[in-house]
Amino acid sequence: MKNLHKADRELYSFVEDMLQFYAAAHNLPLKSVSPMPKKRCKYFGECDHESGEIWIRVRRTVKGKWASQPDYPYQIADTMAHELAHLLCRKHDENWFKLYTGVLMEISKGRLFEKLRCMFKKRKNT
Ligand SMILES: [Zn+2]
Repeated sequence: MKNLHKADRELYSFVEDMLQFYAAAHNLPLKSVSPMPKKRCKYFGECDHESGEIWIRVRRTVKGKWASQPDYPYQIADTMAHELAHLLCRKHDENWFKLYTGVLMEISKGRLFEKLRCMFKKRKNT
């Protein structure tokens, strides 16, 4: 897939599935998920409030090249909640913050963070 390090396919597809899952659980109008374009990989993620699209990064770039490791699990989980909340609330206002923290709580209960950590460790050993 374009805009993905070849070692990140499994991680990315898990993140995509989880974004769909949490969007459905919170009734959020998510239309599609894509990897963050390589050129924009200084950002963790992006959300188009109008079209319902989310772009998410699982590995940063350093001077145009992929970093040696994927992003930390807490960064990915945090970005997922952050961008999902933007589907309903464009600005970082109190409604956005309520939704963002609500999704983070769900993520924590659903042990998504632990699952991401396992994938991160597995990757580090290869
Ligand atoms: Zn934001």
